[in-house]
Amino acid sequence: MTDCLFCRIVAGEVPATAVHQTGTTLAFRDVTPQAPTHVLVIPKEHFATAAELAHAAPQTMVQLWQVLSVVAEAEGLADGYRVVFNTGHDGGQTVPHVHAHLLGGRRMTWPPG
Ligand code: 5GP
Ligand code: ZN
Repeated sequence: MTDCLFCRIVAGEVPATAVHQTGTTLAFRDVTPQAPTHVLVIPKEHFATAAELAHAAPQTMVQLWQVLSVVAEAEGLADGYRVVFNTGHDGGQTVPHVHAHLLGGRRMTWPPG
């Protein structure tokens, strides 16, 4: 999808600071970090939501979770981290290309706002 921001990052048309890449996934730093580590992990193929990805390409969703653990270890998040999939309007999703937020490096609060 050429009008999708994250598809454009995958295509190299929009710059991003990549931290990890596989054949099917890309991990890059969030431009507005909400924690000392704030990395977005996405499938290179366009799916709108985590639910769509899980149904249409379950193996890619598994790979995405594997990447989350690899990046968490590389970022030194041995004390833990949070993974968030904002989904849809009420979930606070602003970019309609599924992305996992990997947040760490500080103690997370609960409940979320
Ligand atoms: P959402 O609100 O959809 O869950 O998360 C979208 C995330 O994408 C936000 O945390 C936002 O800071 C990040 N973001 C938006 N535009 C860009 C961009 O151009 N580059 C990067 N690296 N992150 C972006
Ligand atoms: Zn996309």
